[in-house]
Amino acid sequence: MKKTKKVVITGAGGFVGHHLVSFLKKKGYWVRGVDIKHPEYKSTDADEFLKLDLREKKNALKATEGMDHVYALAADMGGMGFISKNHATILYNNATINLNTIEAARINKVGRYFYSSSACIYPEYRQIKSKLKPLKEEDAFPAQPQDAYGWEKLVTEILAKYYHEEHGLETRIARFHNIFGPYGTWDGGREKAPAAICRKVAIAKLTGKKEIEIWGDGKQTRSFCYIDDCLNGIYKLMMSDFREPLNIGQDRMVTIDQLVDIVSKTAGVNFKKKHIPGPQGVRGRNSDNTKLRETLKWEPEISLEEGLARTYQWIEEQVKTKNKN
Ligand code: NAD
Repeated sequence: MKKTKKVVITGAGGFVGHHLVSFLKKKGYWVRGVDIKHPEYKSTDADEFLKLDLREKKNALKATEGMDHVYALAADMGGMGFISKNHATILYNNATINLNTIEAARINKVGRYFYSSSACIYPEYRQIKSKLKPLKEEDAFPAQPQDAYGWEKLVTEILAKYYHEEHGLETRIARFHNIFGPYGTWDGGREKAPAAICRKVAIAKLTGKKEIEIWGDGKQTRSFCYIDDCLNGIYKLMMSDFREPLNIGQDRMVTIDQLVDIVSKTAGVNFKKKHIPGPQGVRGRNSDNTKLRETLKWEPEISLEEGLARTYQWIEEQVKTKNKN
């Protein structure tokens, strides 16, 4: 009889980790979730959920003990508002989490190790205009990420490469490009652009406001990838034999103003956009999916309109519930 594989997902109390638990459960894995907190919006499907702080090595050893695969998603992170103001905290917390987790995986002899890196590793000098060439994996060097968050992600990518070369750990590295969807942080300061815009539109719609505020001039660009595509990408990459970093994202670039227009259309209302000063991150960014298509024979499939419609619906419900309480 085939033995059920055991996997641990760190960051299982967070947005992507929580979804990944359910996704891997459906695939038949025994899943351990690890995080400093339980998922905020829905209970976990994990077989076991351990509340552990991975900045402690003994906790990382507990987290990875007896596991066949590790999906390392835990990170101290948030949207631009958070990332642009907490450099030392983010660098310290994420470096200790990642050093401990990969070393514990080596000690516990896990078979495979997935690391969630980010498009934030790409150099700022390639992202200074809103219209630009999509970013290829090899564009990462010479390195100049904008924030400590991106520097740490890049160093951990290199750490994973050396753990493979020196210790034979089977590592897989994905560079996520703006993942969004339901059951993600939507208020409180750590939310990212799609969730923040859905919340602002929902509040304006429900209170009859005619205007919504947007950080910056609205012409900054990004691509956005729906969570279900991200989960498929993670799994396909983990099952592949590809050890280099790989973009996981959509390659349709839109301005933040266009993102607001799509959400407004979904909500069935029209607003005046008020552009106010605020952290914006790099000026423009898009994913080049050439290597993704070649390697996994796949690319994200869910349209921005479809993904935002599902996300908006969930956030509007959250706003209504919060207002009732
Ligand atoms: P998230 O903030 O929702 O989840 C991260 C989880 O890590 C949180 O639940 C948090 O409590 C947990 N965590 C933080 N410190 C911890 C610690 N010391 N010990 C244990 N757990 C700890 O973020 P997410 O959007 O789900 O992102 C998952 C991963 O993907 C992260 O590594 C993130 O950097 C990366 N990523 C995400 C995106 C995106 O758009 N969502 C883009 C690029 C990269």
